[in-house]
Amino acid sequence: MEFSTRAIHAGQEPEENFGAVIPPIYMTSTFAQEEPGKYKGYDYTRAGNPNFTNLEKCLAALENGQHATVFSSGLGGMSALLSTLTAGDKVICIDDVYGGTYRLFTKVFAKFNFQFEFMNMDDLQVLEKALQVGDVKVLWVETPTNPLLKIVDIRTLAQLSKKYGVKLVVDNTFATPYLQNPLDLGADVVVHSSTKYLGGHSDVIGGAVITNDVKLKEELDFMRKAMGFNPSPFDVWLTHRGVKTLAVRMQKHCENAMMLAQFFSSHPKVARVYYPGLQNDAGYAVASQQMRSFGGMISVEFKIDFESAKKLMKTFKVFTLAESLGGVESLVDHPASMTHASIPKEERDKIGLTDGLFRFSVGIEDSKDLLADFAEL
Ligand SMILES: *Cc1c(COP(=O)(O)O)cnc(C)c1O
Repeated sequence: MEFSTRAIHAGQEPEENFGAVIPPIYMTSTFAQEEPGKYKGYDYTRAGNPNFTNLEKCLAALENGQHATVFSSGLGGMSALLSTLTAGDKVICIDDVYGGTYRLFTKVFAKFNFQFEFMNMDDLQVLEKALQVGDVKVLWVETPTNPLLKIVDIRTLAQLSKKYGVKLVVDNTFATPYLQNPLDLGADVVVHSSTKYLGGHSDVIGGAVITNDVKLKEELDFMRKAMGFNPSPFDVWLTHRGVKTLAVRMQKHCENAMMLAQFFSSHPKVARVYYPGLQNDAGYAVASQQMRSFGGMISVEFKIDFESAKKLMKTFKVFTLAESLGGVESLVDHPASMTHASIPKEERDKIGLTDGLFRFSVGIEDSKDLLADFAEL
């Protein structure tokens, strides 16, 4: 079946007792047992719940994978995934990884003697050398990255990691399975913050890990139960509700983002537009191959200083100043004063996070109203 059909029907059989088309929310912590150990598939919600199973079937189907496990948050899923490694194991990670992922690696798992190396993955020879030093178990990438929307070639990285027996993990939060399926390109594991596009309405936090490796699926389920990374059945139900409209939402996100990217490209107050859908963008060639379209995130460097940037933020009527992304409503983030404020200015400038840089999560409002926010730019 095609994507939109899977999004609506996978894991959504009408319920048995009354034929409810939408499965109910199994808001229960525990399940009755006929005799010790004899029960109908679930014993305690930390270990599993029918709502979890439904969403897992759906997300696995959307990523063309065999198995999914849902979690309390994206970071909860990543913590469970990392916990399947052993102290001393090494993770090589793309350098502009999501800030929360960086914090989890360097401030939490590093304490338990997990090894992390961060690198820009442009030079494959440097990467190949690094893959051979130490007990490298995982290569961890995002594409597109945050906030500079850099693209890495999943297929090439998958070939390279296979050669050295390393698992390739792709954080597919920005692209979503509607635009990109890393497992099809050779990745071993896909992680998601379902808080973003999958849920799509900025009303729930959640995460998921998808894989074809049944042994890893069992380990992930075990870690969720053992470490308490389970979501609430209600949150999972809400996420599942959101996922059904993923295809139509993504089409509109992509359309609006492309429109804004083109508008900014020829604007005199704009120094640079980061959007993999623009033909002059460094990521365009690879993105055209591995993504079906280019997504709803765009970053723009305006020719303004810190003070003018702060003023500009206050003029938006539709774009709401907020962290996070992927909801139906448009959001704007100013990395220099918000998400990346803890990095010293010289460092920020070096990596491109200048005072004039804004990151837009382009929503699905009417494009005329989105454009109007920049009328006085
Ligand atoms: C938000 C985000 C995460 C973390 O997910 P939470 O659901 O907030 O825990 C991880 N990776 C990316 C790319 C994200 O955008």
